Formats: sequence, C-alpha cells, structure tokens
Amino acid sequence: MALYVYKFGGTSVGSVERIKSVAERVKKIHERGDKLVVVVSAMSGETNRLIALANEMQKQPNGRELDSLISTGEQVTTALLSMALQEIGVPACSYTGGQVKILTDNVHTKARIVNIDDQPILTDLAEGKIVVVAGFQGVDEQGNITTLGRGGSDTTAVALAAALKADECYIYTDVDGVYTTDPRIEPKARRLDKITFEEMLEMASLGSKVLQIRSVEFAGKYNVALRVLSSFTEGNGTLITYEESQMEQALISGIAFNRDEAKLTLTGVPDFPGVASKILGPIAGANIDVDMIIQNIGADGATDFTFTVHRNDFGKAKDILNNICAELGAKKVTGDDTIVKVSIVGVGMRSHAGIASTMFKTLADEGINIQMISTSEIKISVVVAEKYLELAVRALHAAFELEKPTI
Ligand code: ASP
Ligand code: MG
Repeated sequence: MALYVYKFGGTSVGSVERIKSVAERVKKIHERGDKLVVVVSAMSGETNRLIALANEMQKQPNGRELDSLISTGEQVTTALLSMALQEIGVPACSYTGGQVKILTDNVHTKARIVNIDDQPILTDLAEGKIVVVAGFQGVDEQGNITTLGRGGSDTTAVALAAALKADECYIYTDVDGVYTTDPRIEPKARRLDKITFEEMLEMASLGSKVLQIRSVEFAGKYNVALRVLSSFTEGNGTLITYEESQMEQALISGIAFNRDEAKLTLTGVPDFPGVASKILGPIAGANIDVDMIIQNIGADGATDFTFTVHRNDFGKAKDILNNICAELGAKKVTGDDTIVKVSIVGVGMRSHAGIASTMFKTLADEGINIQMISTSEIKISVVVAEKYLELAVRALHAAFELEKPTI
C-alpha cells in the first residue's frame, strides 16, 4: 500500500465534466488500496478572472484582501471534486489550506510554507477517505488567508508529499511531461523520461513554465520523487529525480529560452571602485531585478557596463540610468529591448569539455551574433537578437542531438 499526492492543474479541472473524469481516475487508485491526497488548482482562467475583478476595485489591491479573493478559486474545485467522488461511491473530504492547516509566513501573494499539520489528513486517510486539498493557499499565524504565488498549487502538492512522506508526487497538467525544448518552436523536441532536480530548476528559472520554481526547490530539498504527466493522455511523463549514473550520458538535457529580456549599456563610465554599486544600487532600489551583468576591461580609465532586465522594466531602468549618467561622468546610455536569452542546460556539462565551444560554433555557423554570455556549472546562456530565437533553438537542438533518446 502506497501513499500518493496527485495534483491537477487548472485545465484538468476546467469544467464539471473534467472534474468528473479526475474523480474516475483517482477512484482507480483508491480501489487498488493505495492512499491518496489530491491537490487541485482553480478552474482554468478563474484566478485571472478574480485578479481582474480586484484590479477594478483598487489600483494596487490590498494584499490581504486579494489573497482572500483569489484563494476562492481553489476552494470551489476541492468541494466539487469531493462531491464528484462521493457521487461515485468514494468517501472523500475537502480542505482549504487554512483548514489543513498549511501555516505560511505573512507575505501576501507570495507566502512561503512554514509548517503543515498532517494530523487531520492522516486521520481521514486511515478512515479510507480520499483527501482533497486546495492548492496555492495557506494561513498565517494570525489566521489571515495567504497565497503562494502564481502556479503555487505545485508547491502545495510537493510540500504535502514531503510532510506526509508520500511515495511519489504526481503533477497532472496539460502537457505530457518535460521536453528537451518547447515543441511549438522545435517540433522534434522530445519528452524526457527523467531530469534532475538541478536541471529542472534551471529550466524553470530560464523560462520553462511546466512547474513553479519553488515546488522544484522544495522537492529537491526534501527529496520528493516528482513526476509531471498529462491528465489527458496515458503515459509515464517525466520523473524529476536525483542524478543517476545513466543520466550522465546526456551532455545536454534541454534548451530553455526567455523572450522577456532587455539590455542596457552605460558607456564611458569612469573606472573607479564603487561604480558597479552606484549603477546597480538605484536599479535595485526601484525593485528591478538584474540578470546578466558584464563590465568590460577598463581602458584609459573608462569602462562600459552592460546588464539585462525584464522587458517590462526596460523604460524604468533606462530613466534611472539617464539620471545617473551625468552624475557619474559617463558618456551615454544605450539599450535594446529586442533581445532574448537562449540557454542550454545539462548536468553532463560538469564532466565534459567543449560544450560551450559547440554551442558558440553552432550559433556562428547560423550567422547568429552572441551579444552576452553567462555560465553556471550546468548551464550556458547567451543573449541574441529576438529574430534569431527560433533559429538558435533549432540549431542547438540539432547540434546536441536532442531528438535522439539518450538511454
Ligand atoms: N490558481 C493559481 C494560479 O493560477 C495557482 C495554480 O494554479 O497553481 O496561479
Ligand atoms: Mg501550473
């Protein structure tokens, strides 16, 4: 007898019919004699609808009230799924995050889980019930409803799996797993049978939207076996797991990309200690996240300074730079918001030389100019002009033979 946590995303519970088919699916697990906790998202589109309503009331919706509002989407689906199960003869009970209780800090709209009281769930499971828990939400010490950030139901599921020491956590979604890259860009993209936590973390932070990043961090930290699979087609999906020797055969596991990039350059900056903080301090002060940073070697006492930001912050960052340009005695501010970041990710990079040069040669052969480069132990990212995104992704996919199964 095993204990599983199943999570169903918004499209999987997007209508009464779909909720009924989720009920049928989990009924089979129950009949097998396994224990099951089901975490659900709100019906697809519902969270967006609620946020839009809030925006009609307040320019900057109050965090506490916003959480109270947007947490209702998940409460609806838990109750409906529980009813659907009871209707087909399966004992079931629904819980909100606050009822469980899933205790979080008090940072509204992006709260972190602090503790989970597993007792009510364990009692229900022991009585043979399927327990249905609302994703995305918790409660702070004062009893205020909190939410965990967009896509947060993934994190609820993983956190419950960790707390309950579940055998496996299944994330049912509208794609059948994690792919080598986005199949809409490269139709030859292949579903991965396995990927490591570290790689998944890079893929998620570099633009792959299959799982909330926090859920992957959580799964890695507590070693929760995590599987992503489709609720619409049969299949084993993708297992996210610790590194194994057989996985080392793949040099590169995937190609991620991010279109929401922009870069800014300050040229002719006098080269003295403290310049970087004089430039980036005000940027951070305006709550703008900086990604890649490059400072050239100084020549004649001056240097060039380039960094990337989210495209939405481009205008704001440029204004700030224009203000400090004169103050620093720099020459001028330039910028480009038609750039993208393309990254190759793989733990195989650790033990193989020449990955970077293959990447750069591949792009050169296609006539794609690399504007910026950054690396970590298991990823290499380049900034290129937006118009080259598709070409770069496809060329790299072919160069690293990602269409071929590794094992
Ligand atoms: N319903 C929330 C959202 O749309 C949480 C989730 O689906 O994971 O972001
Ligand atoms: Mg999601």
